[in-house]
Amino acid sequence: MNAPDKSRPAALASIEHWINGRLVPGTSGRRSDVFNPAIGQVTGQVALASSAEVAQAVASAQAAFPAWADTPPIRRARVMFKFLELLNKHRDELARMITAEHGKVFTDAQGEVTRGVDIVEFACGIPQLLKGDYTDQVSTGIDNWTLRQPLGVVAGITPFNFPVMVPMWMYPVAIAAGNCFILKPSPLDPTPSIRMAELLKEAGLPDGVFNVVQGDKDAVDALLEHPDVKALSFVGSTPIAQKIYETGAKHGKRVQALGGAKNHMVVMPDADLDQAVDALIGSAFGSAGERCMAISVGILVGDAADRIMGKLAERTQALKVKNGTELDAEMGPIVTSVAHQRITGYIAQGESEGAKLVVDGRKFQGAKAGAGCEQGFWMGGTLFDGVKPDMKIYKEEIFGPVLGCVRVKDLKEATDLINAHEFGNGVSLFTRDGNTAREFSRRVQVGMVGVNVPIPVPMAWHGFGGWKKSLFGDMHAYGEEGVRFYTRQKSIMQRWPESISKGAEFVMPTAK
Ligand code: NAD
Repeated sequence: MNAPDKSRPAALASIEHWINGRLVPGTSGRRSDVFNPAIGQVTGQVALASSAEVAQAVASAQAAFPAWADTPPIRRARVMFKFLELLNKHRDELARMITAEHGKVFTDAQGEVTRGVDIVEFACGIPQLLKGDYTDQVSTGIDNWTLRQPLGVVAGITPFNFPVMVPMWMYPVAIAAGNCFILKPSPLDPTPSIRMAELLKEAGLPDGVFNVVQGDKDAVDALLEHPDVKALSFVGSTPIAQKIYETGAKHGKRVQALGGAKNHMVVMPDADLDQAVDALIGSAFGSAGERCMAISVGILVGDAADRIMGKLAERTQALKVKNGTELDAEMGPIVTSVAHQRITGYIAQGESEGAKLVVDGRKFQGAKAGAGCEQGFWMGGTLFDGVKPDMKIYKEEIFGPVLGCVRVKDLKEATDLINAHEFGNGVSLFTRDGNTAREFSRRVQVGMVGVNVPIPVPMAWHGFGGWKKSLFGDMHAYGEEGVRFYTRQKSIMQRWPESISKGAEFVMPTAK
């Protein structure tokens, strides 16, 4: 493993757009600061695109589309194979960029890149995935087959919390399927988007097939309204996901919009409780809880609560909260000071609502995280006991290192609680009983379920997506649903003159 780069930039970096295979400086006159959250300092400025700049990117993608769509899938796959090789070579460089702008610890950032690379591996199989099906002789002398064709220009709008992996949920599959792609990354950590564009070019991707427009709401609105953008993939918070879904549909686009989450972990009294504690601590505080699959609610069944609360408190207090560049760090800073304020506000709210504050992460000082971290956006892990379903800290997504524990009497009460929640992204159950696991998996109203697995993010070929307010649209990201999302089916029926009987037919054709 390469050592992380701890140096700080001497000058502010400028992060620009990538259009038609090259860097294009922003011209809107609007820019936004990019921070290193560990030190709390501005390290760069990212361009914020105007609708004219978005139109330029769409035009470049539209111009590249006919030739790319006509390129045989095996040749498109070869570009993906080369890209895969380059990603593996540059994995640590991308991970360092993530740590510098997002704050997550370097080893976690490496994991993020690896989970993105998994999707590139999946996309390398595109010739097989696009094969379609064929029926010989649907009627005498007639054959019928289906094939899938790319949509055209498609766009991806992504959140701050996985600046490499979430774009990779989208563009490898979209591009391999023959589309041209426009990525609109989060302005909080935009640098990896440009590095990925450079690596795609080095891999042999034709100019215009992959473009990046940096920006905020203005860029998103321009993508939503542009008639040449045929589909939009979105990952982010629920209010924006819903808006993207509704506005995109109004403009005639195909949309998949993945939203927020409040993921529960049920701990049954028969579970291996040491494993359950490890799982709760890792999945609540890894990446400072800024994961859509983070566990933010522990549902402790029966006497499991009394048996693990002491250990949970001990482990929350003992978290290694450090600058993410340190290889033994377990939790890094919060992404922005605004997010920090939102999270501390929720902790105060939880206290005033009557939940028992067992460990208060607000007490953690940046100086303890390492040299130079005094001004960073730091907090420690927070643990609540006695959380009730009507409390705001139970109902709303906090998206920070706050674990709230709810005590329930049995599995039914646990399942009813989860099913009544407005989100349905991920859920986990810890038990040793097969029937309990089976019943729970079948009855729970959540899109991704883990049994003794705390963060059940599906592998590249299975597809990712929640239920209820965690997903708007019907297709999950990546996997075969991703291929379907980025292609449309065509059915072709053919016969040849020798098998055509004479004369016009006026009745509905049936198999003969
Ligand atoms: P966000 O919704 O603030 O931003 C997501 C994207 O939308 C960004 O590119 C942002 O620039 C853009 N955006 C923000 N406001 C907009 C507006 N008013 N109009 C149009 N576009 C706008 O989300 P975030 O804070 O970057 O990410 C955290 C959220 O993402 C959490 O809610 C988390 O649960 C969710 N998330 C969900 C998944 C999932 O798979 N379901 C995965 C990762 C993150």
